[in-house]
Amino acid sequence: MLTPISGRSVIVTGASKGIGKGIARVFARQAAKVLVVSRNLAEAEASAAEIGNGASAFSADVGDFDQCRAMAEAALERHGGLDVLCANAGVYPQTVIEEMDPSEWDLVLGTNLKGNFLSVKACLPALKGSDQGRVILTSSITGPVTGFPGWSHYGASKSGQLGFMRTACIELARHGITVNAVLPGNIITEGLEGLGEDYLSTMAASIPLKKLGVVEDIGNAALFLASKEAAYITGQTIIVDGGQILPESLEALE
Ligand code: NAP
Repeated sequence: MLTPISGRSVIVTGASKGIGKGIARVFARQAAKVLVVSRNLAEAEASAAEIGNGASAFSADVGDFDQCRAMAEAALERHGGLDVLCANAGVYPQTVIEEMDPSEWDLVLGTNLKGNFLSVKACLPALKGSDQGRVILTSSITGPVTGFPGWSHYGASKSGQLGFMRTACIELARHGITVNAVLPGNIITEGLEGLGEDYLSTMAASIPLKKLGVVEDIGNAALFLASKEAAYITGQTIIVDGGQILPESLEALE
């Protein structure tokens, strides 16, 4: 049983849908005060309304520092402080290198990697005021552990997040703030469903637990990393993938 996180102030970026919404829901169910962030305000509001338990919406682009600062300010104003930043917003267009426009590389790195830096930097003054400051990054198995055609930019961004984390955790340690990352495997989200039924069924077959994960699987890992009990864990990764990265060959799954 984890020490309750009730009353803690939490920002979840990319929480209008998918994994971010799942993370926000898990924290809100524990009576944390959750700020649901995405660029599209109407979708963030709909998500916050569905999550309930006092969750509220804010519109910000994590690729824009001023908007990240406004996001941190909103948490301070609405919740009286900030304890947890779940830097989850991310994009994953799938394009092979030969066909990729350089602007797509910039978009993916700018959102997934620079977005982490900007979110953490903007939230740092507020997090320093917490006695239990936490940063939880949503990385991926793609990049840090595996590769997949079409995701060279995405994999680079997700590996880059871990490089960022390993220095950020040292810099922020003096403020008592931990920085960790969750590495999801294939989790059923609106974004993933867009990749089509063939992708989803092939993926499920390649996972030892024979199913894709659900967004709450990532929310539960984030909740643990945000807990008092995880206070001595920093700069680490938790893979949540149903065992997907482990089989050496298709034979191993028979
Ligand atoms: P999703 O369903 O497409 O949702 C993405 C969320 O991020 C939306 O709320 C979107 O809202 C927001 N977003 C995108 N760009 C943003 C920006 N510049 N600023 C603020 N918010 C932004 O994606 P998902 O599948 O839940 O993925 C979420 C995270 O998990 C990503 O970091 C992804 O890399 C990671 N991940 C996912 C999987 C998976 O299987 N689904 C696996 C491994 C890792 P707006 O468009 O309104 O901004």
